[in-house]
Amino acid sequence: MSLEQELKAKAADLGFVACGITDLAPVPHTAELDDWLARGYAGTMRYLQRQARRRKDPQRIVPEARSVVIICDNYYYRQLGPQAIPQVAKYALGTDYHIAMRNRINNLADWLMARGAKTARPYVDAGPVPERELAQRAGLGWIGKNTMLIAPRAGSYFLIGAVFTDLALVTDAPFTEDHCGSCTRCLDACPTGAFVGPRVLDATRCISYLTIEHRGDIPETLADRFEGWAFGCDICNDVCPWNHKFSQESSRDEFRARPIWGTARNQDFFEKMGADEFADLFGDTPLERPGLDGMRRNWRVAHRVAGEPGTGGGRGA
Ligand code: SF4
Ligand code: SF4
Repeated sequence: MSLEQELKAKAADLGFVACGITDLAPVPHTAELDDWLARGYAGTMRYLQRQARRRKDPQRIVPEARSVVIICDNYYYRQLGPQAIPQVAKYALGTDYHIAMRNRINNLADWLMARGAKTARPYVDAGPVPERELAQRAGLGWIGKNTMLIAPRAGSYFLIGAVFTDLALVTDAPFTEDHCGSCTRCLDACPTGAFVGPRVLDATRCISYLTIEHRGDIPETLADRFEGWAFGCDICNDVCPWNHKFSQESSRDEFRARPIWGTARNQDFFEKMGADEFADLFGDTPLERPGLDGMRRNWRVAHRVAGEPGTGGGRGA
């Protein structure tokens, strides 16, 4: 078995559902990134501006690196019954993915070190890593019109991590096909009109950005179109036929919805909660990013279309 085959077997042992290897060459679409930033589509995510040079040229992220290993972690669990409103994005119903993936991706980095690497630096949604472009170049799938990485025979309910290493590994062939074809389901389904076009997302109109990154009030014109989402939004993933056909349940318990989500839908759920209780229940989940104040705001907005507390009728997968 080659080192690369052993590496992929190790990634599979660690529970990652895909693993590919690519080089550190600049990614394509750099002019599009500049244009996207110039148009203000990143909103207040100013770190994207600061990271732009490194995002376009991954060699700048870890100068001594010669290869990057890309791994995918499946967070998908099937909804049991109709999804209640307010809705929470699937990836956020369990443990924060940084925590869920940390030990395993560190383990993969240690494995590379034990095989001669002097550098093996792991990243999970941190730093200026252009994960989707690298994943496509590592042969794992294509970037769909909804901007997500879509893996053939697996769909797009993935989190992506990367390990930069100074080992000169044999790279995989890039994924060069685009299987979106004439489909526009994701673009048509977005309730806030956040897609300016295929693969161009105005984050300032996206429910995920507005409920997680945005601080302050949610613009009135958009709040009425949230369709019950209170943290993130899965609509442009849920409508994708590749997910309908191919998504498989995760084997990782960390991503399973916590029992609290079976009951936590009433209007005053976050209003009545104190900071300590919020930290106990959600301190190790993605909800920690908007925090208690942010979730109170989001819950109020989501309840505008929710009708009676606990009613169903949302978009589930
Ligand atoms: S996550 Fe929701 S709001 Fe954002 S682009 Fe997708 S469908 Fe639109
Ligand atoms: S819904 Fe259709 S257009 Fe959108 S990502 Fe999926 S296949 Fe591509």
